[in-house]
Amino acid sequence: MGPTGLAVRGSRGLLRQIREAMAGQIPAQAKLDMVVRIIARSMVAEVCSLYLRRSHGDLELFATEGLAREAVHVTRLKAGEGLVGEIVRLGRPLNLSDAPNHPAFAYRPETGEDPYHAFLGVPLLRGGRGIGVLVVQNATTRTYSEEEVEDLQIIAMVLAELVGSGDILGEAELRDVEIAPHRPERVKGAKFADGLAFGVAVLHEAPVAVGHLLSDDPVAEEARLKVAVNGLQAQIDQMLEGEGGLIGASYEVLDTYRMFAHDRGWNRSLEEAVRSGLTAEAAVERVRSEHRARLGKAKDPYLRERLHDLEDLNDRLLRHLSGDGDVARELPDNAILIARNLGPADLLEYDRTKLKGILLEEGSTASHAAIVARALDIPCVGRLPGLRDRLSQGDPVIVDAESGEAFLRPRPDVIKAMNARLEVRTQRKAEFAKLRDTPAFTRDGAKITLLMNAGLAVDLDILRETGAEGIGLFRTEFQFMVAEELPRLEAQTSLYQKVFEAADGMPVTFRTLDLGGDKLLPYMEAEREENPALGWRAIRMGLDRPALLKMQVRALIWAAKGRPLRIMFPLVANVDEFRAARAMVDNEVAWALRRGRPAPSRLDVGAMIEAPSLIWHLDALLPMTDFVSVGTNDLMQYLFAADRGNPRVADRYDPLSPPALRALKTIQSACAETGTPVSVCGEMAGRPLEAFALTALGFDRLSMPPAGIGPVKQMVLSCDREAASRGVNTLIKSAAGSIRNEIETLARKLYVAV
Ligand code: PEP
Ligand code: MG
Repeated sequence: MGPTGLAVRGSRGLLRQIREAMAGQIPAQAKLDMVVRIIARSMVAEVCSLYLRRSHGDLELFATEGLAREAVHVTRLKAGEGLVGEIVRLGRPLNLSDAPNHPAFAYRPETGEDPYHAFLGVPLLRGGRGIGVLVVQNATTRTYSEEEVEDLQIIAMVLAELVGSGDILGEAELRDVEIAPHRPERVKGAKFADGLAFGVAVLHEAPVAVGHLLSDDPVAEEARLKVAVNGLQAQIDQMLEGEGGLIGASYEVLDTYRMFAHDRGWNRSLEEAVRSGLTAEAAVERVRSEHRARLGKAKDPYLRERLHDLEDLNDRLLRHLSGDGDVARELPDNAILIARNLGPADLLEYDRTKLKGILLEEGSTASHAAIVARALDIPCVGRLPGLRDRLSQGDPVIVDAESGEAFLRPRPDVIKAMNARLEVRTQRKAEFAKLRDTPAFTRDGAKITLLMNAGLAVDLDILRETGAEGIGLFRTEFQFMVAEELPRLEAQTSLYQKVFEAADGMPVTFRTLDLGGDKLLPYMEAEREENPALGWRAIRMGLDRPALLKMQVRALIWAAKGRPLRIMFPLVANVDEFRAARAMVDNEVAWALRRGRPAPSRLDVGAMIEAPSLIWHLDALLPMTDFVSVGTNDLMQYLFAADRGNPRVADRYDPLSPPALRALKTIQSACAETGTPVSVCGEMAGRPLEAFALTALGFDRLSMPPAGIGPVKQMVLSCDREAASRGVNTLIKSAAGSIRNEIETLARKLYVAV
């Protein structure tokens, strides 16, 4: 802060005065009136006004010194309206020498504003959101100095905290103000992993709560800050230079991160905030708010990622300040994890027995976090924008992934209803468990083989519990995605061996690496592609980089140790690709034999049907495969030209529609004619209603997330397949875009449990 700054004039004194005014035993309005008066006097301004945002979004004048008092609680501006609205929209200060000439200026006669030219407004930011605006004005045409802008920002930050934490206004006054995350709220998102959970909010990488805002000893505080910043820098440097150093892209990412940590501007902003009288923690929060406001609106994905880095850095610094910079993530029992988004590795860092639910601001059903959540059977609701700002660490939360909702700080009656539903679910789970050893035959005697999808060692623990007859899809890329560096031959062999052992003789279908698209590896260079879903991924990458694919096939053969082995290739779009891949497997078997290793006692090589092109070349494909598996997640995205990872379009189509079901029927019929075993292993196979349609179409091998097996088995046991088949085959002739309701009605008419 410069020599003319408030720091020199005594900002600490001012902040203290504000705090005292707010602590007094006087009505809330009188407190605010006093605060604006103190600020106006200290800033030598003729006007000081405070606007707060109501829940409907309008900014309301809450207190003023200098403008007409009748305007208080009368003047309202929409977000983006007037200079005040503009400040909230931009999330940064506006410093104008002649406000009435600014294009955004909105004249409000009730305020008597005409004579004021100089205008300085700063946003009140809480959790990166603008919750209000603090304005000072002077009659003369002047520009406020940079120091004055800084001063007002510090005051605004303290005010935002005090207002938001309920220190300034009581609950009654705050009821309608959009700053108080203490009211019950119900928010609608999208269901990513089924289930219900009640627990307490744990903010992913949650910052340590900032308790004290004002320091008594800025010199000591600056020293604390320095120690923490040094600790943080050393930690990051060590991450880069330490033993087992990182390679390739992940090094670059961390190096950028290190640059931020050493950034002089960042350090200077922190020091200045501390010198003005804030605690080191409050200084971190203040600088963070600015970053969020500035970068949060950036459309460029690169900049948004940088914001993520900065957030992470701030959190780390707070942890260093509290003295536990290196402590691992601890969870309370019944934790509900709250995050913007999660990588698959993030989830695995938490104790699974304590993690009861997940709420995400972003993501999609097909995102990593969602797939891992389903694999671990943890209820997950996503697409809840702004969630992290509406919750505090430790708030009670309900995850209702049945309806795709979350209840924040639920009322007792909601908790009671929720507990009743949880009990029903537990009972149903117990019923499913009882069915575990019952083979899945339809009422008219058709055997349906129910298999489990897996991809991580943790999945294998529950294989027996589910009653699945094997693993129909083992996603081998998960091991690669959660690893710090490329898993070598030994690591791969060791995981596959574990899978064989856990399966204990039951069949396992290993799918070779399905990387690329949305599944990128931090340690592998990948060019950014315009359309990753249509890009260099899966078998395309495998055939172009044969060393990687060969190594994997070798690991599978070694791990099989003479047992039967099933391998399938993802995203085959052309029969030549399958031919080449199959030849590679044959070569590897021959190579293993030459090396004196046992060949698998039986080798089945299959293709996934995910690219629509194959539907018109099944006559060529099927004779060269030992089996096929329909990956409906991808098949649907390509059939409907709708990116499965893009929330805007992912749910626009319905697999229970004539085109989708007719495509599936074509595949099933061709397989039946040629006697080629066929399964469905996309997520739809694990949903009872969809599984009902698949069974009706003639599919008798379904592979699904573990949680689907109980409900799908119940469906199978209650299903008359002949009748279902007649019904569904008629319905798919429909001219409707979706026949979900019709299929559901059919199932109910046939008393099928869907
Ligand atoms: C699919 O696409 O349906 C599938 C099972 O594979 P993944 O979800 O791993 O792409
Ligand atoms: Mg797929």
